[in-house]
Amino acid sequence: MVAAGGYSNQSSAARRYLSLKIVDIGYLEVLSPFIKVEGVFKRIVPYVMLRKTTRPLENRLSHQFSRTFSLASGNLVEQYFRIEPCQSEKLTDIGTRRIFSDDHDIFRRSVRRFFNENIIPHNDKWMKAGEVDRDCWLKAGEAGILGVSIPADKGGIGGDWLSSVIVEEEQFYSNCPDPGYTVHSDVMMPYIAKHGTKEQIEKYISDLTAGRKIGAIAMTEPGAGSDLQGIRTYAKREGDEWIINGSKTYISNGWLCDVVVLVASTKTEGKSAAHGITLFVIDSSTPGFTKGQKLKKIGLEGQDTSELFFEDCRVPYSAVLGGEAGINKGFYIMMQELPQERLLVANMSMSTSEFMFEATRDYVKQRKAFGRRIADLQTIQHKLAGLKTEIAVTRAFIDRCNELHNERKLDNSTASMAKYWASDRANAQAYDFVQMFGGNGYMCEYPISKAYVDVRAHSIYGGTNEIMKELIARQILKK
Ligand SMILES: Cc1cc2nc3c(=O)[nH]c(=O)nc-3n(C[C@H](O)[C@H](O)[C@H](O)COP(=O)(O)OP(=O)(O)OC[C@H]3O[C@@H](n4cnc5c(N)ncnc54)[C@H](O)[C@@H]3O)c2cc1C
Repeated sequence: MVAAGGYSNQSSAARRYLSLKIVDIGYLEVLSPFIKVEGVFKRIVPYVMLRKTTRPLENRLSHQFSRTFSLASGNLVEQYFRIEPCQSEKLTDIGTRRIFSDDHDIFRRSVRRFFNENIIPHNDKWMKAGEVDRDCWLKAGEAGILGVSIPADKGGIGGDWLSSVIVEEEQFYSNCPDPGYTVHSDVMMPYIAKHGTKEQIEKYISDLTAGRKIGAIAMTEPGAGSDLQGIRTYAKREGDEWIINGSKTYISNGWLCDVVVLVASTKTEGKSAAHGITLFVIDSSTPGFTKGQKLKKIGLEGQDTSELFFEDCRVPYSAVLGGEAGINKGFYIMMQELPQERLLVANMSMSTSEFMFEATRDYVKQRKAFGRRIADLQTIQHKLAGLKTEIAVTRAFIDRCNELHNERKLDNSTASMAKYWASDRANAQAYDFVQMFGGNGYMCEYPISKAYVDVRAHSIYGGTNEIMKELIARQILKK
């Protein structure tokens, strides 16, 4: 974090001066009646500013105000202004980005603390075990970081989408994506909260928000991933029950899950495959539902990714997501929810890029070669300059997408662009960041190596980037 205080376009000496004056005062912000700024300003400027603050300064947020010196009036003019991360000391600084507010920043502080205290210290242990422990779900529930943007009247926290974004970003800034919070909160829960019956919402949402239950979403099958219309898991109606047979694979949270949103075919003769897809909400304790092995992966080692099997698994008629109205509507429901999943992956990739940049910046400043810091080599400097520029440009687009989604205006094609671009870039950047670490970058001891393998999944799940391009092209060429 940069020091509390103002940001201006003036010299860094001026910035330091203003910051120090404000930090000293505490509850009452006072700018000295006489400010002498060397360099840009040649004279002593009489100026007094008093502003009551409502909370201690350390909880206030940096960068909210730009203080610009007006030559015409001889005064400092204060404007509400949030700088972009590329203008801040670190790309991960709190208090930046115009899409967020003071309240978001306060929330972000608490989320950052949560990951620092409850997740980072345990992640190595979870990576060895191939799964996280249930305690981290309960603690996340207690901290109020699950189901953040699910409406409170449905049992969620009731925050906006941007608050969910904060949790997503902070998890990836912590470089511990292994607890599957994002798929639970921002992929699986919205299906129930938005499309579930009153009974389904009452039965599941509060428990999912509290971390008492863990959620998963099961679409992919051994023979069908990109082409969801090709799924074979079949649900047949018999009286007031459905009998489900089939299997799913690569399911995040699959080993620990208590409840699954399952995509199954209920295809009736003569109808298109899309018409015959239905979503079910199924408890993992249901007879006939078994979990396969935890799959070994090149990254995300602490995340339990599993196969799921359904063998004459009988669920009540009411297990259809949305009840009677949801029968054969699964594909249309997924079309509504997939843009959020794609934006979520974009956010994960974007924050991984920012994490990797800061980890690398720290490293090159302390690593020595040929008697000097590698940060002093022009090749390293130019590489970092190019990467920072690319990250800043992507950040502007991704923030705009989040803003649009917060207003429910994000379309499928734009979400696909966000997912494709951010994950594609993060993967390319990961290569460069590891390279700057040299041999250390290949060692598990250095967090950059974990980011490198973890981010590889981003261009695959949530719909592969090739499928994203299909969707983008479809929009380009439609009449
Ligand atoms: C770590 C991890 C976690 C996952 N979590 C979940 C989960 O929680 N729930 C879930 O349901 N799934 C999950 N998945 C599965 C993931 O969504 C699929 O792997 C993904 O959709 C791709 O499907 P596939 O693996 O069958 O690849 P395929 O569909 O077999 O694709 C193989 C290749 O062919 C390309 N391709 C396929 N069709 C086309 C086309 N029409 N045009 C151009 N190229 C094409 C693809 O882009 C890809 O490069 C997870 C995957 C991973 C790796």
